[in-house]
Amino acid sequence: MQPLLCNLTSSASERILELQEKIGDSEFDRDLLQIKEKIASGSFGDLYRGTYLDVDVAIKLLKTGHASNDSKVQFLQEIMILRSVNHENVIRFYGACTKRRNYLILTEYMAGGNLYDFLHKQNNTLELSLILRIAIGISKGMDYLHQNNIIHRDLKSANVLVGDGQVVKIADFSVARQRSQEGDMTAETGTYRWMAPEVINHKSYDHKADVFSFAIVLWELVTLKVPYESLTPLQAALSVRQGLRLVIPSSVHPRLSKLIQWCWGENPHTRPVFSEITAELEDILLTFQVASRSKGSH
Ligand code: ATP
Repeated sequence: MQPLLCNLTSSASERILELQEKIGDSEFDRDLLQIKEKIASGSFGDLYRGTYLDVDVAIKLLKTGHASNDSKVQFLQEIMILRSVNHENVIRFYGACTKRRNYLILTEYMAGGNLYDFLHKQNNTLELSLILRIAIGISKGMDYLHQNNIIHRDLKSANVLVGDGQVVKIADFSVARQRSQEGDMTAETGTYRWMAPEVINHKSYDHKADVFSFAIVLWELVTLKVPYESLTPLQAALSVRQGLRLVIPSSVHPRLSKLIQWCWGENPHTRPVFSEITAELEDILLTFQVASRSKGSH
């Protein structure tokens, strides 16, 4: 067993070096960075607010002294994905630092925090037009990622950030993968309450797993509830595996209700792609706006 272990360790170290090499040119001047208060503690590393040349930034920090090689690789892979993306509904990457003792990722700071907290702060239901605007933003961001062969693999309201004017952006690429990187995926990754049945079942899966997770986010938007709140995350996953789905209240707009059900279909091939989802959401919004205007004019 020993030689195998050595090989694994050295291949992880080699991968770290290889990734550091590639990331090299997204380094920034760390002396111009001011780290301020901690805003969150993630699964690995902490998140701080700070400024870089007077611009508000979010800083994700991995203390490499305490981190395993696997976490280092994951952190570096997140940087690789972040530096390759550029879309108004995807968190904006400013730079990374991987040459000093602790690794850092610098992104734009999103003052509204994450969508999960935003939804759970509301006392009332959201207006249909706001639900649709948020859903369209997420769908456009996801469409961009899929067009660029990136599967997020952990889409959930906590990984959508809210900015000025309630613009939403996809964040947390810690388990995202470039599709060409490893072909068909089977690894169970993500968060149970948002996880597609094929991922729970360790079957091979693709970008349609993100569409399932999007259905759960849409359900959160229309109900403002925690998915399967009376179940533990594992119980929730087991019930999804058995074909159970969340209950959509009858008050939800029928086209939205239909879209949610389309997105969480058991068969990934019958789920829509994000360009179709965006088109449907935009059409519902347009119809709603026209109807509201004509009501207003009477
Ligand atoms: P996880 O445990 O989900 O893997 P993580 O370590 O990958 O977490 P993130 O999901 O990137 O960390 O961030 C954790 C939380 O920090 C988010 O849910 C959000 O509340 C906050 N956050 C992250 N990035 C930003 C940002 N750019 N601006 C403002 N808040 C942010």
